[in-house]
Amino acid sequence: MPDASSPATRLVHAGRPDPEPGAAVSPPVTFTSTFHADGPVDYARGGNPTWTAFESAVGDLEGGDALVFASGMGAIAAAMSLLAPGGVLVAPSTAYSGTVVLVDELEARGAAVVRRVDIADTAAVVAALDGAGLLWVESPTNPLMEVADLPALIAAAHAAGALVGVDNTFATPLLQQPLALGADVVVHSATKYLSGHSDVVLGVAVTATTEAGRAAYATLARYRRGHGAIAGPMEAWLGLRGLRTMHLRVERACANAAALIPRLDSHPVVTRVRYPGFGAMLSIEVDGDAEAAERVCAATRIWVHSTSLGGVESQLERRRRHALEPTSVPENLIRLSVGIEDVEDLWRDLSQALDRV
Ligand SMILES: *Cc1c(COP(=O)(O)O)cnc(C)c1O
Repeated sequence: MPDASSPATRLVHAGRPDPEPGAAVSPPVTFTSTFHADGPVDYARGGNPTWTAFESAVGDLEGGDALVFASGMGAIAAAMSLLAPGGVLVAPSTAYSGTVVLVDELEARGAAVVRRVDIADTAAVVAALDGAGLLWVESPTNPLMEVADLPALIAAAHAAGALVGVDNTFATPLLQQPLALGADVVVHSATKYLSGHSDVVLGVAVTATTEAGRAAYATLARYRRGHGAIAGPMEAWLGLRGLRTMHLRVERACANAAALIPRLDSHPVVTRVRYPGFGAMLSIEVDGDAEAAERVCAATRIWVHSTSLGGVESQLERRRRHALEPTSVPENLIRLSVGIEDVEDLWRDLSQALDRV
């Protein structure tokens, strides 16, 4: 890929085959389980050229070395294995429910001593870091939209001798680059903005180019090979195909979100808007109970009533409909993933649905 400083240009060109005459412009999907002996990879649980293409694009964007996983949770579980058995894990009390459940499980089987913190309360997080092995950060958090002070937390964690992992799914590498702020590992549910079309489940972990980051890379690569949490080549290819337009999708989704915020703020049945000030994810609370919030979700025609986020289509969901969602999430909270449709269409649809409260 030519040297180019803009993420937009890098997204379009990263991970392509070398420009030899006659070479394919788009990388092929390499469907194989094994490779002729004596090459860099012998068996496809250890590597695949289609993974490499996706990884080089994501690594380039985050400023580190990427490893693709079967899902975001696959990447998170691998990153959690950076904690020595029985070590102290400082983790957000409210975060993506899958992460909250995984942290509970690590604690229940004695794999980690867990200190749960309000990730937006910097002093509280810093106070919990003494003797910690790993600080896990999600920012903004899913679905409460809390924002962590990444530079302060990373500095304090490193001073305490802890590694720092950041779930950067909501921000995307376009809006936040935790490795540049000193984090050791970043993870994404590539199912969301990176792929961007709600057609693939995929994850990625990216390690820093520091000594600690390189050690983390080796651990994660070993974990992936040993636990077999690997992505299919077709999924990696879809991830790379999605990445090509991420800058345009994110730009449009953010502009749509920014236009919707003041309208939601002044809407009579919206009692609270949670928006971190950037990105295209937000949550609202409606003037009513769980049923009122469910009526809103059931009444949209353009906004898709479905779980997940970060697709081209706008999506909404009352998060507490899921039994595993932390009870710190209000019953009447609706999470909105703003897509790339026409914003006036989005508003007309959402405001008629809000009338059902
Ligand atoms: C969806 C999500 C995950 C889990 O990713 P999967 O690809 O579904 O396994 C992790 N973190 C956040 C913030 C998410 O939104």
